[in-house]
Amino acid sequence: MNNTLLTGTMKVNEQNHLEIGGVDTVTLVEKHGTPVYVYDVFQIKEKARAFKNTFAVRGIKAQVAYASKAFACTAIYQLMAQEGLSVDVVSGGELYTAIHAGYPKEKIHFHGNNKTESEIVDALNYEIGCFVVDNFNELDLLQHHAAERNQKVAILLRVTPGVEAHTHEYISTGQEDSKFGFDLLNGQAEKAVEVALASSHLDLLGLHSHIGSQIFETQGFLMAIDKLLTEVTKWQKTQSFDLKVLNLGGGFGIRYVEGDQPLPVSEYVNTIIDEVITQTTKFNLAMPEIWIEPGRSIVGDAGITLYQTGSEKQVPDVRNYLAIDGGMTDNIRPALYEAEYTGVLANRANDIATETYSIAGKCCESGDMLIWDLPLPKREQNDILAVFSTGAYGYSMANNYNRIPRPPVVFVENGIDYVVVERESYADLISLDRSLPQG
Ligand SMILES: *Cc1c(COP(=O)(O)O)cnc(C)c1O
Repeated sequence: MNNTLLTGTMKVNEQNHLEIGGVDTVTLVEKHGTPVYVYDVFQIKEKARAFKNTFAVRGIKAQVAYASKAFACTAIYQLMAQEGLSVDVVSGGELYTAIHAGYPKEKIHFHGNNKTESEIVDALNYEIGCFVVDNFNELDLLQHHAAERNQKVAILLRVTPGVEAHTHEYISTGQEDSKFGFDLLNGQAEKAVEVALASSHLDLLGLHSHIGSQIFETQGFLMAIDKLLTEVTKWQKTQSFDLKVLNLGGGFGIRYVEGDQPLPVSEYVNTIIDEVITQTTKFNLAMPEIWIEPGRSIVGDAGITLYQTGSEKQVPDVRNYLAIDGGMTDNIRPALYEAEYTGVLANRANDIATETYSIAGKCCESGDMLIWDLPLPKREQNDILAVFSTGAYGYSMANNYNRIPRPPVVFVENGIDYVVVERESYADLISLDRSLPQG
């Protein structure tokens, strides 16, 4: 197999099996069944530390907030809290899970373009650290509830700077067509700053922007910083606005397939730091705290999914389909936006690939294809397929289409494996169902 895909503690052991966290994947399958999500805890910690340390080494005040929508469950919130990270939540459900996991409330940041009134009230009750306010409606609601309870609430304003980044390209748009945030260039953001500053119950710490995801270069971040700080300089004069926090969002890329070339964490962070220093010096602004929000880059390539292979269908002169016992229910990204993955046979990882198989899911949708044209050894009964880099937006987007139960999540570290989310049972599937009324 191609060893560049082995990250963190992954390796091929003497039995020719894929190993992760010091545990043989064949053993993991015997113990936990398939499909199963497996996370290399060492690698998650390493990534979290890389983000934090890069700021620390430079002596820059910062918060690294794990964007928990990438993978949310009690154990990952506990792990991120242990690592001293802050955390982003985007719904009442994520907020509840974080609180239930014991997350320090002051390190929770609440995002979302349509926070409901009850979600806002919950978050105020929990006294979370910061709301990232998305729109005027939310600004009103928050001001109203904060005033009613005589609470002072720390906020950032989410702005759309007119920069959008996708992997290699970035685009600069005058007026960004986005459902998120206050537009920076049409005056909305300026108006929002005015409203927030006028409220005695809102403590406006600064601005937030998130320009995209799976970003492989730094140009988009530089453009966003320049646009934001140019406006901030104006508002400092017109509104006496002090920028204490500049939150630049997440979106740092990871490797899914061989061609992907993400930058090291330190390079993304150092480039951001350098640009904020350069621009604040140029505009004569005080250096703000820098906050960032990595999701995928903390958990994405630390996670793999193990499947049992099953039926094969040969379409002569076209392709061979090899089916697995999961698919769009545990990983909807290929069906949703043609995301690419790669994998190996975990039970004989270094066997020579002589065939090409397209990996099909088991759902009743032609679009339920996990990987097209994957080179693999000739199939044998009960082979285990390991798919790499499934740690982000896999479990968190898992669903019960075709009433397929969601797989368990297993953490591995130093030769030890433990379940952090149980496999859903058939009984779980009907636990919320109610029978028709009698008669
Ligand atoms: C999704 C999201 C993130 C995390 O994005 P990744 O690509 O997973 O790093 C961070 N901030 C905001 C506001 C987001 O919506």
